[in-house]
Amino acid sequence: MSVSAPETLATEEAAEWSIEDASELYRVGAWGESFFHINDHGHAAVRPDPGTDLSIDIVDVVRSLRERGIAFPVLLRFQDVLQARVRRINEAFRDAILEAGYDNVYRGVYPIKVNQLHEVVEEVLDAGRPYSMGLECGSKPELIAALAHMEDDEALLICNGVKDTTMLRMIIEAQRLGKRVIPVLEKYTEFLELRRLAKEYSYSPRFGARVRLATAGAGRWRESGGDRSKFGLSVPEIVTLVEALEASGDTDAFQLLHFHLGSQISDIQILRRAVKEITQVYANLHRRGVPVQYLDVGGGLGVNYDAGYAYDDPGIGYSLQEYANAVVYAVQEVCDAAGVEQPVLVSESGRAITAHHSVLIVEVQGAYAKDRIHDGFVPEEDDHATVHKLHETLHFVTTGDNGSPTLAELLEAYHDAWEARREADTLFALGYLPLEQKALAERLYWSVCTAILERVDRLEVDPLPTELAELEDQLVDQYLCSFSVFQSMLDHWAIGQGFPIMPIDRLDEQPRRRAVLVDLTCDSDGKVSHYVSANADKRFLPVHPVTEGEPYYLGFFLMGAYQDIMGDAHNLFGRVSEAHIYADAEEPGNFYIEQTIAPTSIQEMLASVQYFPNDLHRRMNAIIRQKVEAGVIRPRAGTELLEEYMRCFLQSTYYDSRAR
Ligand SMILES: *Cc1c(COP(=O)(O)O)cnc(C)c1O
Repeated sequence: MSVSAPETLATEEAAEWSIEDASELYRVGAWGESFFHINDHGHAAVRPDPGTDLSIDIVDVVRSLRERGIAFPVLLRFQDVLQARVRRINEAFRDAILEAGYDNVYRGVYPIKVNQLHEVVEEVLDAGRPYSMGLECGSKPELIAALAHMEDDEALLICNGVKDTTMLRMIIEAQRLGKRVIPVLEKYTEFLELRRLAKEYSYSPRFGARVRLATAGAGRWRESGGDRSKFGLSVPEIVTLVEALEASGDTDAFQLLHFHLGSQISDIQILRRAVKEITQVYANLHRRGVPVQYLDVGGGLGVNYDAGYAYDDPGIGYSLQEYANAVVYAVQEVCDAAGVEQPVLVSESGRAITAHHSVLIVEVQGAYAKDRIHDGFVPEEDDHATVHKLHETLHFVTTGDNGSPTLAELLEAYHDAWEARREADTLFALGYLPLEQKALAERLYWSVCTAILERVDRLEVDPLPTELAELEDQLVDQYLCSFSVFQSMLDHWAIGQGFPIMPIDRLDEQPRRRAVLVDLTCDSDGKVSHYVSANADKRFLPVHPVTEGEPYYLGFFLMGAYQDIMGDAHNLFGRVSEAHIYADAEEPGNFYIEQTIAPTSIQEMLASVQYFPNDLHRRMNAIIRQKVEAGVIRPRAGTELLEEYMRCFLQSTYYDSRAR
């Protein structure tokens, strides 16, 4: 008797499986934005420049990193993808402006809170240089980092967030240097403080204002806009401010109007409405003689993480070009109707610039399935009655005494098995069932359940009775992955953000197992709870069985926005290794690794919570010496133990699959 699918069936189906099927299953076409695809070897691959055919095989990259001894997990940064996104956004606005005959330019800024890593900011500025792309900052440390990168006098530095006097002073000084640094007033009190400083410097600093619009965003981040938003000046406050400027003859200082609807704008109509609303404010101010020059539509350009197929998420229903067109045409329409000149357009897209460029590579450390009974098991005469009962049920389900069991019969078999299992548990708890018999009963129970689900599958019942659906949940495999949700995909835990995940290898082989991915933390939330796939049920990821002795890697895609930087050190898992990859057609495999960055060491993680090597060494040494003196271990073994302990300080915080 066998509870697994017959071998022949599996091979026949495998022959029919193609990389197109894999691409469809994991919905690569939808989230990959033409950057990601599956190559002829069945490997995940990157096309760093969508304009050419040049492709980098991610399995090759992983192999090179392994050869260099890089600790996993590792975050791959495809710098060409980052640059391609910068170009794409700037060109989308340029094309929209050309097509509409819009009478001004676009000056994008990159909000560094999305990913402040120096390398990322430098790449963005590099790729954005031909377009005079600038930066946006939202705090004092971000301002300090950004200021030193404002080499281009044309580029903007937009300063959002609450600003203290120190920040306002830095901004004024930078303006006096000839830089286009614009503080965006979030509160009316900031305006008063700016006026005070203006007097002190005898200099009228330029500034902008965030406007509290009536249009609120939609989706998870809608609170960022609308009447209830945390930031922004109300229309009455704007009028008061303008009156003050008129009284002092400083109307030229008011240069920019800004709004931010929040991240992941799902509905382009809401954006269009907000743009028109703020352009009305702009047009009114112009007619009143306040020559505002810039119109800043904030961030929120969406990224299609779940390909519009997610669990409880409407998805992003527009393209980048559509977004740019919506902004350009809406501003033009309102300005034309009001007969005022058209402003410089500014946008602050962060997620849409950085999300695609990084891929987290995680190794599966173990696959755990429910323990089942071995094929051909026959109970002994003196095995317990519950074992015999379960075995009979299994026999009935797998062979079907009179033809194929019906759904009703299968449900009954399930109830029988459940009863027998419960009986075994009770008897064990009372001391009437030996451990070995309980083990047999449990194995048989899971075999019965597996067999029932296989039978039900063939009956193509839809919807599944609730009991069986729950059973399906329990029978799913757990794949233990060497990473931490809290460090590497915080938004998944915090707000249920979905990220595309797929194996990077064996994609030419049908993934026949269904798994839930769990991380290394000792936290029941440390798992991925929904997945991007074409399957109706998003609670499991289709995966391949793990082969003993062969590493199995999963790629977590679109990780470049926010996740990198918001990571939390739950259980003291630190930053992962990083590798910066550049495309180059002259190199083997079309790439070279420009730089690798070591992961946070155990020593660094411990120092962040005030444990230091000297002190730990001293304590450990004292414990060992005491045992040496007591004769528990030999002095030499004691020294070796201490050395081994100290060597751990320099290691990565993650599971080391290479340790022997
Ligand atoms: C966070 C933020 C952004 C970036 O938003 P994305 O959704 O990443 O494009 C832009 N502007 C402001 C004011 C922000 O707070």
